[in-house]
Amino acid sequence: MCGIIGILGAGDVTPSIVAGLKRLEYRGYDSAGVATIHLGKLNRRRAAGKLGNLEAALEAEPLSGASGIGHTRWATHGAPTQTNAHPQATDRVAVVHNGIIENFAELRQELIDNGASFESETDAEVCPQLITYYLQNENCTPAAAFHKAISRMQGAFAFAAIFSGEDDLMICGRKGSPLAIGRGENEMYLGSDAYALAPFTKRIIYLDEGDWAVLRRTGVEVFDASGQQVTRKETISSASAGLIGKDGHRHFMAKEIHEQPEVIAHTISRYVDPATKTIKLPDGEFDFKSLNRLTICACGTAFYAGLVSKYWFERWAKLPVEVDVASELRYRDIPYAPDGGALYISQSGETADTLAALIDAKSHGQKIAAVLNVPESSIAREADVVFPIAAGPEIGVASTKAFTCQLVSLACLAIAAGRARGTLSQKEEHRLVGALLETPRKVSEALKASNAIERIAHDIAKASDILYIPRRIFSHGAGGGAEVKRNFLYSRRRLCGWRVKTRTDCADR
Ligand code: GLU
Repeated sequence: MCGIIGILGAGDVTPSIVAGLKRLEYRGYDSAGVATIHLGKLNRRRAAGKLGNLEAALEAEPLSGASGIGHTRWATHGAPTQTNAHPQATDRVAVVHNGIIENFAELRQELIDNGASFESETDAEVCPQLITYYLQNENCTPAAAFHKAISRMQGAFAFAAIFSGEDDLMICGRKGSPLAIGRGENEMYLGSDAYALAPFTKRIIYLDEGDWAVLRRTGVEVFDASGQQVTRKETISSASAGLIGKDGHRHFMAKEIHEQPEVIAHTISRYVDPATKTIKLPDGEFDFKSLNRLTICACGTAFYAGLVSKYWFERWAKLPVEVDVASELRYRDIPYAPDGGALYISQSGETADTLAALIDAKSHGQKIAAVLNVPESSIAREADVVFPIAAGPEIGVASTKAFTCQLVSLACLAIAAGRARGTLSQKEEHRLVGALLETPRKVSEALKASNAIERIAHDIAKASDILYIPRRIFSHGAGGGAEVKRNFLYSRRRLCGWRVKTRTDCADR
């Protein structure tokens, strides 16, 4: 969930861009950068680490210019270094990118064959290189080159670009990752969310999936993926300078559902080396190889994530798994195996029952791993190793994005366990990792069905009973069915008086 800010302003924009990036810090990042156009020339400053490092670089070498873009990067392809930080650029165009370009390796090779030379290890760099190729070799306008370039890229992403010689132009596009355009008085803004733009303007245009837009100080033209000009409504944002906003969604749960392509991509990036299509686990010791049994322990939604992962650990790692509800486990008299291992799952890392069960297992000499969304939490402090998820703050009560990110993390752990135990071939690991890398795009494709799903939900809301008939990981007691039931009950029981039954036996009939 990196951050994008763009400004076509009246004076030097760098201080406002850095201020906007600070408002996006909550999304997490590992490096940052700014590019501006000054006297027609493109300049940029970038730094690894915190925004303070970028501010120091800007103090040493200030950056003038009334149009610019800024970025906080959360690395997925290539280490968090200055060279890999965004904006990625050629001498014609600078681009900031959020997300993953799935087919970057093929595009990169094609561009190298056509004479391009790359400076970074990122997937992002194919974007400025492709745009430059179309500007130089096909004589395209910046807008046509941008559109051609994004049409070639597969994945889930958001881009913003500025062009040398073009002081009054910024082009952006999105697929799977959010982008908001803010309209000022003879100024134009762009941000990953309306919250980042709150100090500048409240007049916000949200781009639809696949949209791209050409911004000038006096106006915006929006196009759909096919290049057809379209109209997108301007709304007045209620995002205040102090609160994380809903980004045009009716409520936080809807916002968080739509954040999934982005946060899943960032969770994958914590575990996957896309170049080798292998799993690389975060530092810390957890020896899956010597385990005879894995105990997974959690509460609520995290418990269902554990139940789903049981199928994966059994299938890929041939590892016997026991999944327990923390509130029960802490009161049982468990004969812990010597040198056993236990895995605790919690969104907040503060779930009291899970923490109590963990402390009990630890006092019996168990090796403790935790899958957590908040790495500075009590459970993180007690665990031997923390496997993070990168879901960002989850405000909706019924878990959505934290649940799917937990599943991503657990799938990666099960693959790593399979490799460590010699039960999963290298070929199979490559296949599974390849499928994981496609997940953000597939989730964003699934989200396109939101309107149809909403219509079905209105129909279902009239029902007095619901029968849910799943198999395997979707079955009752295995995440899907149970999670569906839990979320149904959370959101609607009072209103509809629903009873929800989940049945696996029907699936055989
Ligand atoms: N995939 C890009 C990179 O690693 C962008 C990551 C992000 O979303 O910050 O450079």
